[in-house]
Amino acid sequence: MPTLACVPILVRSHTDAIAQARTARDAGADLVEFRIDGFFRPNDDTSADEIESIVRESPLPCIITCRAAAEGGFYEGEPDPVLALFDHLLPLPGVAHFDIEASRHKGWAPVGTTASLILSLHDHRGRPADLNRRLLKMRATPGVGVIKLATTARSVRDNLELLDLVRDSDHPMMALAMGEHGLMSRVLAPKFNAFLTFASLRPETATAPGQPTLHDLLHLYRFRAITPVTRVYAVVGDPISHSLSPLVHNVVFEALGYDGVDLPLRIPGGDEAPESLKATLLELIHHPGLDFSGASITLPHKRAIVRLAREQGWSLDDASAALGAANTLVIDRGHPRTPAVRVLNTDAPAILRALEGSIDLTRSPLVGVVGAGGAARAAAWALARSGARVLIANRTPEHATALAADLSGQVRAITLAELVREPLDLVINATSVGMKGGPAPEAIPLDLHAIPFAPLVMETVYTPIETPLLALARSRGCRTIDGVAMFVEQAALQSEAWTGLTPPRALMNRVVREALAG
Ligand code: NAP
Repeated sequence: MPTLACVPILVRSHTDAIAQARTARDAGADLVEFRIDGFFRPNDDTSADEIESIVRESPLPCIITCRAAAEGGFYEGEPDPVLALFDHLLPLPGVAHFDIEASRHKGWAPVGTTASLILSLHDHRGRPADLNRRLLKMRATPGVGVIKLATTARSVRDNLELLDLVRDSDHPMMALAMGEHGLMSRVLAPKFNAFLTFASLRPETATAPGQPTLHDLLHLYRFRAITPVTRVYAVVGDPISHSLSPLVHNVVFEALGYDGVDLPLRIPGGDEAPESLKATLLELIHHPGLDFSGASITLPHKRAIVRLAREQGWSLDDASAALGAANTLVIDRGHPRTPAVRVLNTDAPAILRALEGSIDLTRSPLVGVVGAGGAARAAAWALARSGARVLIANRTPEHATALAADLSGQVRAITLAELVREPLDLVINATSVGMKGGPAPEAIPLDLHAIPFAPLVMETVYTPIETPLLALARSRGCRTIDGVAMFVEQAALQSEAWTGLTPPRALMNRVVREALAG
């Protein structure tokens, strides 16, 4: 049976609950959960009457839940009045399931109806130490229809135990990891044959931390297309919530008819970052049944992934080996027990692809790269290998000198003041200057006015698309290439490495520009 998409609704009034249920139906939900715990008043028949009419008028089959305060809900009372209400609602055909916490269930069962009993367990702090024992007890409970576990994930890895429990369950089951690390358990529910997953109508109506919206579940992650054999991809970094990678890669998978899904996974930065990256990736790669097949690796893990590849004996492409930084993991699962792992740097070739048609690198043009971080390193290396003469200039000149030394004589470091006096054919901004939310969003990384002619100007920054540098360059009559061009190319190369298919670049370009404009 396909995994259901359920929208939880905190009942505040009859009118509001029915309006939300209709919106959920129109947006593609399979069922709704009416959370009556903030509404039901045990000694007041009018609240019970309203709940009954909500069930009668619900446009979708529903779950009725009166979540106890002890498990994260609003209901502070005893279980008996709730069970009495459930008895009263039993004959109504609209109720598909009654949810009761295993700790408060008292042997109640929906006898004589088609509705089933969801026996649930919630832990908003972590995972109960005796989870397996409690699960066994839930499975052995007479009358149980569906088992629900909701624990709190402290890392990406905590999803995997829950997904395994679902896959191995002899009862219909759902197991949801709450919190920012829990997205995997929610989106991959169909891959592990979970009974349902929850998705909110809007971020602010989520009833548990980490719940995706129904729109994201159905359209961004293509929940209905996920099956037990769907390949899983991720963008890994910190922060990661605003990454455009899942949007772009999922659109490409759909356009190519490729059975894959791409998710954001936050692996925290800081002192522990390399160890967390290693532990998480190794567990994902070797997890049976996850079909983890690749990842986009972003800050702060771009260098650590190369060190990990060297330690694990994974293959490195020329760019990652030379630059000591990479942004792509490819896992060939041809031999499931011994997957072959490749690490690539698609940033470097993406810069060349973005320049194609605008400059002939074989004619040894003079290129000024501004910056000395990862993007500058990729640009300088790729351009020098393609025949350009490369000058590097940076706010901190020593960093430019060190980068030039690392690239062993292929490029030359000069100061920013000297750079603008050179007869440059191309200038590339490879600093974070001009980036929204960055260190200097309104600034321009070099004195373009001092250049007496109009070189081609390329940005790596893509938020915003039109940076102050690009605006100035255009006003001075320069041809320009924005940062989206590089972003699309590095993603297209990743997609090609993962799928073996030619990605729809024009579509990717449109999707990214639309997302950035919105
Ligand atoms: P990074 O390694 O942290 O390097 C940052 C660079 O920016 C350094 O050269 C730094 O100079 C310079 N910088 C920072 N703040 C500055 C300021 N206020 N004034 C002058 N210079 C400043 O970062 P990265 O990974 O190279 O990324 C750089 C940019 O490239 C980012 O905006 C990123 O979004 C973009 N990027 C885009 C793509 C794409 O696909 N389009 C891919 C990768 C990166 P110091 O050495 O003096 O600190």
